[in-house]
Amino acid sequence: MVQPTPQSSDALHRRGLMFILSSPSGAGKTTISRMLLEGDPAIRLSVSATTRPMRPGEVDGKDYHFVTQEQFDQMIEDEQFLEWAHVFGHSYGTPKAQVKAGLREGQDFLFDIDWQGTQQLYQKLETDVVRVFLLPPSIDELRRRLTGRGTDSAEVIAARMERARAEISHWDGYDYVVVNDDIEECFAKVREILHAERMKRARQTGLIGFVRELMRP
Ligand code: ADP
Ligand code: 5GP
Repeated sequence: MVQPTPQSSDALHRRGLMFILSSPSGAGKTTISRMLLEGDPAIRLSVSATTRPMRPGEVDGKDYHFVTQEQFDQMIEDEQFLEWAHVFGHSYGTPKAQVKAGLREGQDFLFDIDWQGTQQLYQKLETDVVRVFLLPPSIDELRRRLTGRGTDSAEVIAARMERARAEISHWDGYDYVVVNDDIEECFAKVREILHAERMKRARQTGLIGFVRELMRP
C-alpha cells in the first residue's frame, strides 16, 4: 500500500469544521455522537458548560463542565461563550477558547446543542458550521425511546414530549436532516455527511500550495 507523503493530497492541511447535531430529546443524538467520536479521532466533542445537576454516569469536564449559576453568569460577563441559551430551565453554553484554536489546527468539533445555539453559531461562524438534524421515525417511537432510556421520571418524559413538537418545527434551519430509524443506517449517513464536508474546497487550506506545485512547469 502507498503511504501518504507530506506531498500527497491525504496530508493536505485543512481547517476544522463545527459539526452540529440537534434533535428532539430522545431521537438519538447522544447515541450517534458517541458512535462518531469513538471511531474518528479527528473529531472531538465541544464540552459545554451547564448549570443543570449532573446525571448518574456523567463525568465533570467530559460530558459537561458543571458550574453554578454565578459561575455561568461570570462566564457570560467575561465573553467566554460562543453561544449560550436557557434549555429546560437551566443554562447551557459553548466555551470559546478550545474551539477557535482547534479549528485553525484542523480539529473538527461535534456540538450537541439545541436550535437556539445552532442559530447563534451559524450567525457567528457560518462558513465553519455544518448543521445536521435528526428526526425520530414517529412520535410513538420517540416516546418509547425516552421511556426505554430509563434516565428520566414520568414528569420529565412528559415535558420532553411536550417540547418535541416545538423542537421538530426547527427542522428547516439545518443543512441536513436524517431520520433515525435504524441506528446503523443513520450513523452511516451522518458519517458520510462529515466526510463529504471535510473535502469542501474552502476547508482544504493546503490546496493552494499543492496545486501550485502540480502546475509548476
Ligand atoms: P438524545 O440524545 O437525542 O436525547 P439518545 O441517544 O439518548 O437520545 O437516545 C434515546 C434512547 O433511544 C436511548 O436509549 C438509545 O439507546 C435509543 N435509540 C437511539 N437511536 C435508536 C434507534 N435508531 N433505534 C432504537 N433505539 C434507539
Ligand atoms: P441535556 O440536559 O439533556 O444534556 O441537554 C438538554 C438540551 O440542551 C439538549 O437539547 C442539548 O442539545 C442542549 N445543549 C447542551 N449543551 C448546549 C450548549 O452549549 N448550548 C445550547 N444552546 N444548547 C445546549
